[in-house]
This record gives sequence, C-alpha cells and structure tokens, in this order.
Amino acid sequence: MDILVCGGAGYIGSHMAQWLAEHDHRVTVLDNLSTGHREAVRWGELVEADLLDPAALERAFAGRRYDAVMHFCARSLVGESVRQPYDYYANNVAGTLNLLEAMRRHGVERLVFSSTAAVFGNPVADLIDESHPKVPINPYGASKLMVERILADAAHAHGLRSVALRYFNAAGALPEHGIGEAHACETHLIPNVLRAALGTGPALQVFGDDYPTPDGTCVRDYVHVQDLARAHALALDYLDTHPGTHAFNLGNGRGFSVREVIATASAVAGTSIPFERAARRPGDPATLVASSRRAREEMGWHPQWTELAPIVESAWRWHREPRY
Ligand code: UDP
Repeated sequence: MDILVCGGAGYIGSHMAQWLAEHDHRVTVLDNLSTGHREAVRWGELVEADLLDPAALERAFAGRRYDAVMHFCARSLVGESVRQPYDYYANNVAGTLNLLEAMRRHGVERLVFSSTAAVFGNPVADLIDESHPKVPINPYGASKLMVERILADAAHAHGLRSVALRYFNAAGALPEHGIGEAHACETHLIPNVLRAALGTGPALQVFGDDYPTPDGTCVRDYVHVQDLARAHALALDYLDTHPGTHAFNLGNGRGFSVREVIATASAVAGTSIPFERAARRPGDPATLVASSRRAREEMGWHPQWTELAPIVESAWRWHREPRY
C-alpha cells in the first residue's frame, strides 16, 4: 500500500515508517521537522509541510494516491499543554482538521490516529479499558479526545474509516535501524534515566515518592514502539472489514514504578544511577495501566516486547550511540 505517515520524522512515526518499509509498503513522510529529525526519515520521501498550512498540505496530496494516512503529528507534552493551550488546540485539533479536509478532497478514506491514555484523565479503575470515563485533565488529552470525536463525525458525514490508538507509555528504540527517541527537551522517564546513567544528562529527579503505590512512585505501562507500529498496521487491516471509527488502548497490561524502571536500567547499564527525590509533577496520575484485551481480541495484537528489561535495553543501546 501507499501510505502517508504524518509525523514520520518523530519518535513513533519513524518506527512506523521502518515497519511499513520492511513489510513492502510505500512510505511518504510528511513532517514540519519542528520536533522531528531529518535523519530519522530513512524510509521513503520526506515532504516538508505543516498541517497548519493548507496550501502545503494540498501540494503534499496533489498528484499522489495514498491508500491510507497514519497521523503522528502532535504536540505531546502534558506540562507544556497546560502552559500553552492554544498551541495544543491549534496543532492537534485545527491541524488535524486540515489533514482530514485534504484527505476528503483527495479521496483518502482510511486513517490511523495517534491518541493517548491522557484522554482518560485520572483513572478510576486498576486496568483502563476503552469504556473507562474520558475526562482529560490537561489540554493535551483534551485535544486528542476532541479529534476522536471529530473522527466519529467524519465517519458519519464522509464515510471516513478510522482507528484511534491510545498509547500508554511508548518506550524503546530500534538502534539496529538507526532510530530511537530524541527530544530536544527530554521529559520522559526512560531517556532521562539512561542519560543519568551515561552522565550525558543531570541526576534523575523522581517526581514524587508518596503516591498510593507499592513503593510510593508512579506506576506506568511501558510498551515498545515496534509493538505500537505493529498495532497501526493491524488497525489498517481492521478497517478493511470494519467501517466507521474505532478506538483501542495499547499497553502491556503491567505496570512498573519509577523505582522499578531505575532498578531495571541499572541492571541493563551495569551501573548505579544517581537519583534524587523531587516534588510531584502536576497532572501525573499515580497509576496508568492499560487493558488491551480489545486490541488483542479484535485486531489480533500481541505485543512481542512484554518484559521491561529488553525494552529498556533497546533504549540503552540507542542512547549510547544516538544518530541524531
Ligand atoms: N518521571 C520522573 N522523572 C523524570 C521523568 C518522569 O520521575 O525525569 C516520572 C513521571 O512523574 C511519571 C513517570 O515517570 O510518573 C513517567 O513519566 P513520562 O514523562 O515518561 O511519561 P507520562 O506517564 O507522563 O506519559
């Protein structure tokens, strides 16, 4: 198939492009390179365009015939979204509307959309399945939930087929393919732990150790980016037989605390990792763990990276020799 990967220069999008190319699909990457990396576009052509520029989008679609779009472009930092909500609604909602309109004009009827566990807000269940209340507590989660709603309306009005995939904590890398996680301003736990281990970043700050969890630190469900990429491919297959709009939660169904991540990374790196206790980070729920039963049963998604250590080890190999 001929697939447009919007945001394909970014962390998850680049792993998607790798997966698609390996499975004989033709990839075109659309990215404004605001947070993505030109060096991460190793499969397919790069079209530099911003979703907020309809004329550039029109040029990106003109003269081509995509079978589907995978949409990873977004601003995605919770804290930043609280400080700069307009940027988040503009990029994530208005930008997506422009993309949907370009798809409609050019007859592209399938979309796989990057959504997030942040659509749920504070969890009211130990395992979060798709029926969990959706009450986002920050503009990032709200912007993604708005798009999910728009996709339902688009299905109704224009027959768009779409799947929203709500990732829990994306992690890991494919260093053997020259891609991994590289953010100019790194806020995520595993990269920060590994940078502390390497001495290329500051000592790790543990944001809160008085949460109602077994060791007092936050618990998250880490899922490897390659498993996320595989889920997107399955989602496209799913749309063959399932018109309308759908949503699936993606995680391993097991939570690990910040302290457990540090211990695992210490073992992987063979070194102790300096850390210090810091205040809680606003907006962090104590525990976020996915039920991905629906993705397993309906799409046949079975994560291959089910243990934390290999996930961290793949990130470790990337962080020791990042390419960008
Ligand atoms: N965290 C931390 N120190 C860091 C980065 C993250 O203690 O330098 C904690 C954070 O408070 C959360 C967990 O690690 O409880 C995962 O955070 P991350 O930003 O990786 O993902 P999120 O769950 O926010 O999507």
